[in-house]
Amino acid sequence: MNQIVPPPVIADLQPKSRRVNKRHHVAAAGDWLRRHQRAIRWLQWHVVVIYAVLLIVPVLVPLPVDSARIWNNVSLFARFVFWGIWWPGVLISMLLFGRLWCGIMCPEGALSEMASRHGRGRAIPRWIRWPGWPFTAFVLTTVYGQMVSVYQYPGPVLIVLGGSTLAAILVGYLYGRNHRVWCRYLCPVNGVFGLLAKLAPLHYQVDRQQWEHRPPHIGRVTRINCAPMVPLRTMESASPCHMCGRCAGFRDSIELSARPPGSEIIAVSARTATVWDSLLIVVGLMGVTVGAFLWASSPWFIAAKQWAAGRLVGLGVFWPLEQDLPWWLLTNYPGNKDVMSLLDGTVLIGYIGMITAVMTMAVGMPFAVAARILGPSWHGQRFHHLVHSLLPLAACGIILGLSAQSVTLLRGDGFPLNWVDDARIAALACSSAWSLYLTWRIAGRYRSGVRRAVATGFVLAGIVAGVLPWIMLFFVW
Ligand code: SF4
Repeated sequence: MNQIVPPPVIADLQPKSRRVNKRHHVAAAGDWLRRHQRAIRWLQWHVVVIYAVLLIVPVLVPLPVDSARIWNNVSLFARFVFWGIWWPGVLISMLLFGRLWCGIMCPEGALSEMASRHGRGRAIPRWIRWPGWPFTAFVLTTVYGQMVSVYQYPGPVLIVLGGSTLAAILVGYLYGRNHRVWCRYLCPVNGVFGLLAKLAPLHYQVDRQQWEHRPPHIGRVTRINCAPMVPLRTMESASPCHMCGRCAGFRDSIELSARPPGSEIIAVSARTATVWDSLLIVVGLMGVTVGAFLWASSPWFIAAKQWAAGRLVGLGVFWPLEQDLPWWLLTNYPGNKDVMSLLDGTVLIGYIGMITAVMTMAVGMPFAVAARILGPSWHGQRFHHLVHSLLPLAACGIILGLSAQSVTLLRGDGFPLNWVDDARIAALACSSAWSLYLTWRIAGRYRSGVRRAVATGFVLAGIVAGVLPWIMLFFVW
């Protein structure tokens, strides 16, 4: 009897073959990284040298005078490179390639791993494993950076970045063997990098079925050292992975793969989102970071300072207006007419605290209401999952805030950069739309119909609240 074979559907075949090709190319890139670990280490040492030069040389030369320019003053040049190119570039790379920067180029990670290779190799203590470090370290570093004007002066840069590097080496020397304990648990930007990597279109994917059927001695690679100690068999998030490529091909089960940008947030974050993630996104990125970028341009900050000064003078208390502190505690550069009094410092911390409180309420409340609408009762995990949809906007804000440094420097040097405002509007619009799209998709996992639409509407209010400070900073003040 003749068997009826359905004709092949060309539309099914062609995209599949293209997908296979694309998949093959992406996986080959992961294999290439695994095979070129020596070249990666060579690259890392070059980045270490550049980093050290940019960190140390500006401290050894006098502060720039008014006529100094990026191209004729090493201090201004280093400032431009660090805050205008390096950090925004690293953040953008997280969105494009995951934490490739951490695994391939980060000088701190390389030094910490090297120290760990030759160090004491002690067990990692419980205090280091505390999951609140990414949030706490990020907030403390951000606020301290503002108190000492880290974006303006080389001394504070040396303390903040150099201090972090020394701590990374010390932790590497004391704990773990051939691992990056610092990067995994303590690095102040570990949490932010891990969150942004969730949006990336690349990740290392584990085929669990294949894993179970392949003994470890079979595969393109049989021994690996995953420096950030990712549990490979159960890895489902790009957050902890440094994209170093060492595990590509392990048990023939792990390979670099492409995925739709943000897909991890829609699916995987339902299980993996935590309260610390929500704190870092809502309080840290949408609150503290916004306050830190806003205060220097804010008329409210000036008004608060004048009000507090008037009250103190009225009470006959003058010392908070006159007392300053060493430059490593509070900005103190009399030669540049840039000295913060104790009152300035107090108002600065109060201002960042107030903005953080307002933004946390303005952004967090609509998300809380939306999370409640999407279920029969309140469920914290649903809220944390929804909050992950804010990541595109949070990432856009921090990139725009950092790049504002380079825009200011370049404009001061005669580059008009007339297109910048349009680019800022486009970036805010696109990231807000992306956040809203992620919300819609996440909401669809819990409810359909009216509840889904109403919940998305509430989140839209939170997104608008998150955009407003940037509008004020770039277009109103
Ligand atoms: S899981 Fe570990 S070894 Fe594999 S790419 Fe990520 S960091 Fe490297």
